[in-house]
Amino acid sequence: MTSTTKTEGAARPAIDKQALLAKYLEERDKRLRADGNDQYLQIKGQLAHYLEDPYTPRVEREPKTDHVTFAFIGGGFAGLVTGARLVEAGITDVRIIEKGGDFGGTWYWNRYPGAQCDTASMIYMPLLEETGHMPSEKYAHAPEILEQCQRIGKQYGLYDGALFHTEVKNMEWLAEQSRWLIETNRGDRFTADFIGMGTGPLHVPKLPGIPGIESFKGHSFHTSRWDYDYTGGNPRGALMEKLADKRVAIIGTGATSVQAVPHLARACKELYVVQRTPSSVDVRANKPIDPQWFEGIATPGWQKRWLENFTANQGGDVAEEDLVQDGWTDLSRRIRSKIMELPRDQMTPKNMMLAFEDSDFEKMEEIRTRVDSIVKDRETAQNLKAWYRQLCKRPCFHDAYLQAFNTPGTHLVDTDGKGVERITETGFVVGGKAYEVDCIIYASGFEVGTEYTRRAGFDMTGRNGLKLSQAWADGMRTKHGIHVHGFPNAFIVQPTQGANLISNIPHNLTEAGATIATIIKHTIDGGYHEVEVTQEAQDKWVDLLLTGTGRMIGSPDCTPGYYNNEGQDPGPAAKFNVGYPAGATAYFKYLDAWRKSGNFEGLAFN
Ligand code: NDP
Repeated sequence: MTSTTKTEGAARPAIDKQALLAKYLEERDKRLRADGNDQYLQIKGQLAHYLEDPYTPRVEREPKTDHVTFAFIGGGFAGLVTGARLVEAGITDVRIIEKGGDFGGTWYWNRYPGAQCDTASMIYMPLLEETGHMPSEKYAHAPEILEQCQRIGKQYGLYDGALFHTEVKNMEWLAEQSRWLIETNRGDRFTADFIGMGTGPLHVPKLPGIPGIESFKGHSFHTSRWDYDYTGGNPRGALMEKLADKRVAIIGTGATSVQAVPHLARACKELYVVQRTPSSVDVRANKPIDPQWFEGIATPGWQKRWLENFTANQGGDVAEEDLVQDGWTDLSRRIRSKIMELPRDQMTPKNMMLAFEDSDFEKMEEIRTRVDSIVKDRETAQNLKAWYRQLCKRPCFHDAYLQAFNTPGTHLVDTDGKGVERITETGFVVGGKAYEVDCIIYASGFEVGTEYTRRAGFDMTGRNGLKLSQAWADGMRTKHGIHVHGFPNAFIVQPTQGANLISNIPHNLTEAGATIATIIKHTIDGGYHEVEVTQEAQDKWVDLLLTGTGRMIGSPDCTPGYYNNEGQDPGPAAKFNVGYPAGATAYFKYLDAWRKSGNFEGLAFN
């Protein structure tokens, strides 16, 4: 899609935008399917074994029938940071309920080889300053992140009340008692003055609905339940020695597969990487963190400064320096500098969007050129190129994924956007060709577009029997993404309708955690029994959100994926999946002032 032109004496490829756009649409159209989210299989019944926890044995215990001050659903970052802030505020009677066998959430389940964070550890790992932990690498690997979760759990005493391997089945507001009833799959039936929910967006694994999937007689598992007993090796990246004589297929080439493939490539006798849509894979440039350097920068308040600096670099609020310097800040800088090239009188929203598009074309061309410079086999290289705008799918960064395709025994099986045709007793079929394998690894991702209640496993009931699914029947409605009218003493910890900072989710969570702790302390100290957002304040907040420019991701022009509801119209409710119109930095400033004011405008205390 490029031709070479002479610009100011240097050879620079000119991008044929029309040809590129046509190619993008052609590739999207190949992948569009009428069944959208229904193409995936819910893991249950005969497939339920794919959900079993391979990491921690389940321990029998007596059901809980007592009362706690605060119960939180989910033991990932959201629960940990909220729990920590509550403990700091003197509220120590905190019970975290978690379906995994330990804290960690995503990082509990995702122990596949090579798993690491894609956002720099210094800002991604929560409570580094509070725990005194120095990340070992710019992008830490999963075991270290899991350890950080455990460290937070221990330091704040959150293990004491935690219920692991426990799933909430029902939550109900008991109006006469001003408290919540919580019921679980372990027979628990206890009450809490306050509840919080941080169940995360990507925690229910899904399988591709490939015909014959149940018939495979070899070994198979989902990447979020890695079977090290079968593969050998460990989450720290030790060679999976048991695969030396195995033919293995990994189905899917999203962010998970990109990280796992290099490890599989060096371990398997034969590896088939089965691709429907290529990921964009940019430079990673990971490096160890130098303790001396860290000591120099880790002065009081350092993590907050880094968080704020990163967030500023992501938005219009340009910071003077870029402390983090990663793929995200690079992306923002490029877009900004393209926009700044516009003459002042031409800085219209339309021209700004075109400048954004130009910057995207350039970036994606760079990423495609990178494939050619690394992958030796021409056909493989061509098939590994991503033909869509960078934010159509989760951008990936890796310095060993593309290289893995130069390893003898590693084969890219490109399905030309069609996916696997069939799974048989002995392997899989693509384009009419059968491949025999000993093991199939499903890197097929997690449920996103399914009903919220299906993913959560419960539908909480607030005032006057109101279910959350009813309250949100036409779309999510909250104040700050935290409070929902009709659900007193309940708090949600997630990014939407708040900062909605997608590039660094934990920043949203730590801010929400601090907010919740402040409000609960105020409620208790003031002798109140209930706190609830008023209808008026919630409506006002939602109206404000809807004045924004809307969603940055999810365009129907994109190749299908979970970012755009698999290419299907997401319906009118999707317009509520937005953040504060003035951006993340402005939101965090606003929230801080709102918290500090002590008035908690919009909340009613009784
Ligand atoms: P994804 O949903 O991103 O990828 C699923 C893969 O399975 C896609 O390549 C998809 O193809 C493929 N697939 C689905 N059905 C079929 C089929 N029938 N035949 C062949 N292939 C098929 O899941 P991941 O687990 O990779 O990632 C999920 C999310 O988790 C990421 O987007 C990211 O948000 C997060 N993550 C973050 C990481 C980090 O921060 N370091 C690391 C890993 C994950 P297609 O694209 O065509 O749909």
